[in-house]
Amino acid sequence: MNAKFDSFAIDIVKKLNKNSFEGWFVGGCIRDALTNIVAKDIDIVTNATPEQIRKIFKSSRIIGRRFKLVHIFKGNKIIEVATFRASSSETNSSKSVIKDGFGKILRDNIWGNINQDCLRRDFTINAIYFDPLRKKIFDIHNGIEDTNRKRIVSIGNPLKRFEEDPVRSLRAIRFSSKLNFKIAKDIKTAIYEKGYLLQGVSNARRFDEFNKLFMHGKSNANYQKLDSFDLLKYLVASADTKNPYSETLQRLALKNTDTRIRSSKSVTPGFLIAALLWPKLIAQSKSISSINTRKFFRNMDTLLREQQSLTAIPRRFHPYIKDIWSLQLKLETRISKQPYRTLSSPRFRAAYDLLLLRTKAVNRDKELSDWWTKFQTVNRKIKMSMLKELETSNAKNKKFGLLGELS
Ligand code: ATP
Ligand code: MG
Repeated sequence: MNAKFDSFAIDIVKKLNKNSFEGWFVGGCIRDALTNIVAKDIDIVTNATPEQIRKIFKSSRIIGRRFKLVHIFKGNKIIEVATFRASSSETNSSKSVIKDGFGKILRDNIWGNINQDCLRRDFTINAIYFDPLRKKIFDIHNGIEDTNRKRIVSIGNPLKRFEEDPVRSLRAIRFSSKLNFKIAKDIKTAIYEKGYLLQGVSNARRFDEFNKLFMHGKSNANYQKLDSFDLLKYLVASADTKNPYSETLQRLALKNTDTRIRSSKSVTPGFLIAALLWPKLIAQSKSISSINTRKFFRNMDTLLREQQSLTAIPRRFHPYIKDIWSLQLKLETRISKQPYRTLSSPRFRAAYDLLLLRTKAVNRDKELSDWWTKFQTVNRKIKMSMLKELETSNAKNKKFGLLGELS
């Protein structure tokens, strides 16, 4: 292993060693280093208990209930240090592992050694341990071999492992897209058979996974895979509205998100949710070939609530998503002062971006988006003449027929 690891993380291991504890780098950081990806963070495990870790590091805090961990701080950096845990199957009878009626682990705070810790990790590629001081590797599940062979292999029977924690099925899909690895056949079977258990996972945890799946540059690949495993319905409220238009718009929105991430532009789950749900919103709100605005505004709330029950969307995104949607109608209203008001909305940029995606998805009726492309850049005098020109054309008022998306 010749990857360069963060010196703060190495110092933590040094200090643990000095206090006679083990310290290992494990999980994503080792897996990513082996596949030449820059890991986003380093996870450390040790045989010290959270309380012992807390005592050794002045700037630290114990967090979590389901999984007790310690956060160690330095400046704006945080490193997570976990204590070795025993495998759930070995400790079934223990009262430190609390399961629900489906076998899902609700709480799991029984400490163990490295061998036991290894058994409770999800996939072999995530169970490679590295001691950065002694340069020692611990890999009893042959994770390195699976990394080299580019495959995702479960530790233990995936049917049982996915019962314990249904989120593992989403993780298998996410790692396969991120690393371009194949998912082992027994894992695929387990995803098909146990995927339904995702309905028992909290919406907060589902929102975390939503972000990991869709906000890290592989959203399109993940979306298509989730769809093929029929898991989309646990993450997006529009999974039941499938037509050529929705599929095109959603693919464009996802690809756009991935491209923005690749060029280090900002992305927000709010925008992606607004775009992914748009086809369902308009399908529900149409009356003959135009939008019934009363239905539209009512459905906005219902749809957002549906999405909320799947993935807990932070409050601040709710008005943002609704504004993007309602601005789609305002963008069509190009009379008197309305275009100026629309342009000065803080969400104009996001709304205009969605309009561009919609235009691209229908691949016709470019007049509206071209008009806005020009209107936002020209000076006041030209703006006025653009509006004047509209008065004599019949383009200005389409009564929310949208871009032919409803036909
Ligand atoms: P990344 O951080 O790139 O998303 P990661 O593998 O580091 O990937 P984390 O969620 O940070 O993922 O978890 C760190 C490690 O903890 C994993 O590599 C795995 O060994 C273990 N782990 C995390 N979540 C689970 C889970 N749901 N079931 C079993 N083991 C898990
Ligand atoms: Mg990690």
